[in-house]
Amino acid sequence: MNAPGAQAGHGEHSRRDAAAAAAGAAGTRLDPWFSSYAERAHGMRASEVRSLFAVANRPEVVSLAGGMPNIDGLPLDFLAEMTAKLLRDRGPKVLQYGGGQGEEELREQIVDVMRYDHVHAHPDDVIVTTGSQQALDLVTEIFVDPGDVVVAEAPSYVGALGVFRAYQADVVHVAMDDDGLVPEELDRTLTELKRAGRTVKFLYTVPNYHNPAGVTLSLERRPQIVEICRRHHVLVLEDNPYGLLGFDADPMPSLKSLDDDGVVYLGSFSKTFAPGYRVGWALAPHAVREKLVLASEAAILSPTMMGQLSVSTYLSSYDWYGQVKSYRAMYRERRDAMMAALGEFLPEASWTVPEGGFYTWVKLPEGLDAQAMLPRAVTNLVAYVSGTAFYADGQGHDHMRLSFCYPTPERIREGVRRLADVVRAEADL
Ligand code: PMP
Repeated sequence: MNAPGAQAGHGEHSRRDAAAAAAGAAGTRLDPWFSSYAERAHGMRASEVRSLFAVANRPEVVSLAGGMPNIDGLPLDFLAEMTAKLLRDRGPKVLQYGGGQGEEELREQIVDVMRYDHVHAHPDDVIVTTGSQQALDLVTEIFVDPGDVVVAEAPSYVGALGVFRAYQADVVHVAMDDDGLVPEELDRTLTELKRAGRTVKFLYTVPNYHNPAGVTLSLERRPQIVEICRRHHVLVLEDNPYGLLGFDADPMPSLKSLDDDGVVYLGSFSKTFAPGYRVGWALAPHAVREKLVLASEAAILSPTMMGQLSVSTYLSSYDWYGQVKSYRAMYRERRDAMMAALGEFLPEASWTVPEGGFYTWVKLPEGLDAQAMLPRAVTNLVAYVSGTAFYADGQGHDHMRLSFCYPTPERIREGVRRLADVVRAEADL
């Protein structure tokens, strides 16, 4: 099809067409509306994780790819009864629109949940969102103009990178090591960016049980990161969906607890309860929170009432923290299985040892390319996510993310064994 976008370089379309051309010519043939898209839409593409889902979900494939929490242990009978009672007792409220900021009773409970992260907040400063993913979107929407810089860990959560791309941010990665983000590297990067005249809007960081790196920011580094950002007048966006899922220790103080004014904190019930309710939140300095509510109202009017009141009832009428503890025990067993299998089958590689969460970050033996190897792995009935998904700048070929959250320990062992076969064949070991 000969869409108008094919005529690159003509008049008012030229800027858009340049973006379209950069995004690849295939779209012009398949999509008659290609030249009508906003510039930002040209940068949108399916993440490597998303396009993997179809194959990875085949039962014969051991998927070490997805980050889906394992919700098998949830009390389904209790939840069924709870839902029926909620509708019977509070139907007109549950089925109605709610306020844009979210239900006050839930915001009060969220304040209690955040005490585990050493955060002392007021319910007025909390906004309930459609998962923390929507909070990522809202924060980026209110802060980022095209061409602004977002500083993020190397590597970073793929879903956050997708949001930053959608708002045409330039992502600048900062190195991590086994203790998380490296303060000296952050300071150096922010200084260089300032010298280059760039506008940095925020630092995006996942301090606990990082997705995908599996590392945790050390206690010692936490105040350093906050101090560096304060000195450079850069907001911190602290994303903490896994904070309560530490295997051996209670959560360390969040960055938010160290600098209330300089940090927007994101939380979620997706990993500590269930992702299907789509309930997360942001805790932000008062003026920022007001903007977030306006942006959220424009996007969705109000967050899900069914989801919010279900989560609220669960928190008040079930031993939710006992459930968190049983999740921890289950994920710890799976982490152990993953670590043992890597040691047994893939000693040529190196990997992080996560103290919580869902992921380990594996460095392949010299010369191997995780992205190129993936089709061979899937043929050998194992899936992972190539490290390239977690960078905005094409790095990551030498790494892969392995998730231990979903498969059983036996399947994890079998998956790593299959993966090791592929690596060996590839590396000619
Ligand atoms: N941040 C991180 C680091 C995540 O891993 C995820 C989910 N994979 C999210 C945010 C979004 O979670 P949700 O929208 O379900 O709260």
